Amino acid sequence: MPLPPSPGAQQHSSIDLVNSEIQLPGNKTFDALASPESTTDWLIDRELVPEDAQLQEYCQNRLVTLRQYVRQAFSASTSGTPIDEVALQGINAALLAAPNTPLLKQEGGKGFFRALEHPATQLTEHALATLAEDAASLLSSDEATQLAQCESEPCTRYLLRTHGRRHWCSTRCGDRVRAARAYARKKERQN
Ligand SMILES: [Zn+2]
Repeated sequence: MPLPPSPGAQQHSSIDLVNSEIQLPGNKTFDALASPESTTDWLIDRELVPEDAQLQEYCQNRLVTLRQYVRQAFSASTSGTPIDEVALQGINAALLAAPNTPLLKQEGGKGFFRALEHPATQLTEHALATLAEDAASLLSSDEATQLAQCESEPCTRYLLRTHGRRHWCSTRCGDRVRAARAYARKKERQN
């Protein structure tokens, strides 16, 4: 990962998902979901699939498609514009992909507890449903007003503006903006 998590990405898996593709200076892109193997690692790191999971290309594609839909929803939310109907339906389909209700369980006659079922055949569905659930709850909550896109070009990562008027996702992006401004001022003085 070329950048640390943006503010809010550790609390919201949907921000983390959208930020799994990073635009870097010099027309470079880093994509954590570039292959089935890296997609599996990304999901294991976030405990969205068990450690022995092995995702196929088909599952990777579904996750990349959901990322695209969630990014469209974030963009619609921050710009106050209508979301594309296909994206909205895609997020809702992911929400319904797996039951996200923790079931009641009891082990060894001890106290009851609740836990999600993770049938091996539905690993991807559970990951998709969890990520879509986070996106849906974030976008429909007051926190949505804090959602913003990094203003340090070419970065397109999203963040939660929890620290006042912060406009960028990382120190590195902030430094780049400040360096660009200083350069512009210097040029102006020279002209
Ligand atoms: Zn940034």
